[in-house]
Amino acid sequence: MAIKPKAGGFVLRVDPILCDGFGHCHELAPELVQIDEWGYPIIKGTPTPLSDADALESARFAVRGCPRQALRIERTPTSN
Ligand code: SF4
Repeated sequence: MAIKPKAGGFVLRVDPILCDGFGHCHELAPELVQIDEWGYPIIKGTPTPLSDADALESARFAVRGCPRQALRIERTPTSN
């Protein structure tokens, strides 16, 4: 039986109430998080495939590195 590649995708979500806007997440996951002119994150809106191991690792770094615990990874049924 063939092993199926990981299906679906993920997006990062930020809680704007918790976020302090110092932009640490951008340093940890620049391919997923941009920052606006005030330092608040602009999260990539389209899902990233779960099979993109490097992006998923970056997202996990960002979640663990967020000092306000304002980030989480949300799985999506599809990737773009
Ligand atoms: S690391 Fe966390 S608190 Fe800091 S800007 Fe990113 S989401 Fe906001």
